[in-house]
Amino acid sequence: MEKKRIAILGSTGSIGTQTLEVVAEHPELFSVEVLTANNNAELLVRQAVEFQPDAVVIASESLYRQVSDALKDYPIKVYAGNDALEQIVDQDSIDIVLVALLGYSGLMPTIRAIKAGKIIALANKETLVVAGELVTGLAARYRVPIIPVDSEHSAIFQCLAGEYSAIDRIYLTASGGPFLNLPEEKLAYVTREDALKHPRWNMGAKITVDSATMMNKGFEVIEAHWLFAVPACDIRALVHPQSIIHSMVQFRDGAIKAQLGEPSMKIPIQYALTYPDRMECKVKRVDFADYPALTFAEPDFKKFPCLDIAYNALRAGGTIPCIMNAANEIAVQAFLDGKLKYPGIYALISETIETTAFIAKPSLDDYMETDAMARHNAMKILGGM
Ligand code: MN
Repeated sequence: MEKKRIAILGSTGSIGTQTLEVVAEHPELFSVEVLTANNNAELLVRQAVEFQPDAVVIASESLYRQVSDALKDYPIKVYAGNDALEQIVDQDSIDIVLVALLGYSGLMPTIRAIKAGKIIALANKETLVVAGELVTGLAARYRVPIIPVDSEHSAIFQCLAGEYSAIDRIYLTASGGPFLNLPEEKLAYVTREDALKHPRWNMGAKITVDSATMMNKGFEVIEAHWLFAVPACDIRALVHPQSIIHSMVQFRDGAIKAQLGEPSMKIPIQYALTYPDRMECKVKRVDFADYPALTFAEPDFKKFPCLDIAYNALRAGGTIPCIMNAANEIAVQAFLDGKLKYPGIYALISETIETTAFIAKPSLDDYMETDAMARHNAMKILGGM
């Protein structure tokens, strides 16, 4: 079998480093062509020395010299800047682009990779939250598959293998995050550290805070809508604290398929890279004796209003999800910086949606302008809070 040649956009983050672990376990299957990082120059250099890609990109231009000096004895091309990050996916030597960039920054490189005809392994859900209609439309036009890496969507994707009938309903499971059992009135006092203690999944800071507000699940509802063409009313978030069932699909005859496993991103990452094949994967196997009860509950929309905002944004369409995402990025960063209390995250997002101009049928330029305007408005509202 020919080796699959991979570009990893965002190789120094949580998904990026786990992707390289998958690659290292299967050197016969994969070769790394491109690695990119935002500003973790040190780790990017170490990864480049180990995996010997054709090229690396460091987005922060001020770190160019550090990276190029460290790699000067290797036949590795070094580029810097956001334009380079976008252009690099055009290389003929790339088969799959794994997008593990943070937030909105995933959008433009994903669009570029689709236009270059590359298979997309998508770990960056914000790309579909912000511009799902445009991105999935482009993928259809360029006949490029978007293979989900997000564990729930990978689960759905796995449930759909071999199925031809329409989906009746999706059950999107949620761990419930660290505040599932905290009384609602105590949410006003939770700290950054409380929010970063996720009970079941080990992830980056941004997505961990999104899990604590359940905005992450709201984003995933939107992501599922665009990936699987299922309307909002047929996508049900379901709190399942054990996180053993990674999501389920119900078909028109009432049959339900689920994908199960111990929580680990290794399987969804590897499946996206080896699809439609399955390969050996060194992850803990489920011992059902450890889980005498798998439990399920409806999410509490009142306690976690971000989930409600996301459903409403999906129903409203246009630029509302883009505005919501921009405001959420500002709010989460402010919360991590200690400048915003937990309930302020929701308040900031909903006020930004109310004050930012809505466009019903946005072009790519409209999305870019809306993202910038929403950030500007969110910063202004944050200043007055
Ligand atoms: Mn997920």
